[in-house]
Amino acid sequence: MKRVYMDANATTPLLPEVLEAMRPYWMECFGNASSIHLDGQQAHSAVDRARAALAEFFNCHDAEVVFNSGGTEGDNTAIFGLLRPGDHFITTSIEHSAILRAAERVAERGVEVTFVAPQPSGLIDPAEIQRAIRPETRLVSVMLANNETGVLQPVEEIGKIAAAAGAFFHIDAVQGAGKVPLDVRRFGCHLLNISAHKMYGPKGVGAIFVRRGTPLESLIVGGSHERRRRAGTENVPGIVGLAKAAELAMHSLEDGTPEGGTMPRLARLRDRLEAGILALPGTGVNGAHSSGCHPERAQRVEGPASSFSSNHSGAPGPSHLGTWESTNFVPRVANTTNIWFDNLEGEALVIALDLKGVAVSGGSACHSGATEPSHVLMAMGLDKTRARASLRFSLLKTATAADVEYALQVVPEAVEHLRMISPVAAGTAG
Ligand code: PLP
Repeated sequence: MKRVYMDANATTPLLPEVLEAMRPYWMECFGNASSIHLDGQQAHSAVDRARAALAEFFNCHDAEVVFNSGGTEGDNTAIFGLLRPGDHFITTSIEHSAILRAAERVAERGVEVTFVAPQPSGLIDPAEIQRAIRPETRLVSVMLANNETGVLQPVEEIGKIAAAAGAFFHIDAVQGAGKVPLDVRRFGCHLLNISAHKMYGPKGVGAIFVRRGTPLESLIVGGSHERRRRAGTENVPGIVGLAKAAELAMHSLEDGTPEGGTMPRLARLRDRLEAGILALPGTGVNGAHSSGCHPERAQRVEGPASSFSSNHSGAPGPSHLGTWESTNFVPRVANTTNIWFDNLEGEALVIALDLKGVAVSGGSACHSGATEPSHVLMAMGLDKTRARASLRFSLLKTATAADVEYALQVVPEAVEHLRMISPVAAGTAG
């Protein structure tokens, strides 16, 4: 059976070039980057080269790049490394659990935490961040792109607000990295973290940008690795893989014309998928101005409606990011759509599609096994039933038109079948 993987926001496969780049560092160049002999020096130079590649990816100095184990560690580092009892911390209710659980932990230890809610479209309004600021606000943390809806947040505006208030600003860029250009100077952030496995690199490795002079306490102590900012023998193959993935990501963000590059191509495929699914009755997009939060106003959005804007368009939202905007949708990364389906259970649809060879996710894959509806969709104002009946389709950058056509063949069949047998459709579900 054909298998089509449409869950790139959960994880991505290695690109062949990434595997090739990593290959020598498992067996031939296996040295410890801290050793002074030749084997150690080879490993050390590989880490140095990777650091330079990441510095280019972030637009920062080499010394501002710290390698770590991935997105969760980076998020935890920002929160535990900066906040102390008596501080005030602002974040949003749509962050990844790596932020939310860490925020709860510091709240138990005497940090005041404000969770800013999104608008029904999934966008965080910078004015709400401004309203939440207090004299004792030490840290503001807002994600670049939401993992469930793909909605891009106005980080540049939020960075200005944090700066004016004298607060540190952290960006979880795990889902934005590789999909939109990163620029820590323009974002005005002190901390920004990424994870390799979300951008065609290996699992268990990531990096955090730490602006020079930021008084960040290290989360993991031990040796003097990473200029004492993150102890532990460097994962050299992983770091090399991350750097290669970052280089390739930069190329695919720059390649071609706005009409012909990787991201516009991906956006067109996503739009085709979205439009095909929205042709079904009782469906809608979470992440559109007409999101699923107001059933009475919910409407089928005719697509494909997105257009590429590589620069400032004057449209609402983070127009600097090189994103895809239209009148119907708020800015989103090119590969993601989150769609609600009336009269069925999302989990049943995920399973039905999997049996037909299409891998998608309901809510966040990091919470798989949890029966609670997505906290992101609930925060956007969806009711529990609609949040449970929402699916995330996130395309790999290698996705083809044939993949999309296959999905468009199986999704309507599965939806129709489930609606026929669904207790939700029969009105018996709570
Ligand atoms: N932040 C966001 C927005 C994510 O989507 C994820 C993973 O899904 C993480 C953090 C955690 O990253 P990692 O899997 O590298 O720990």
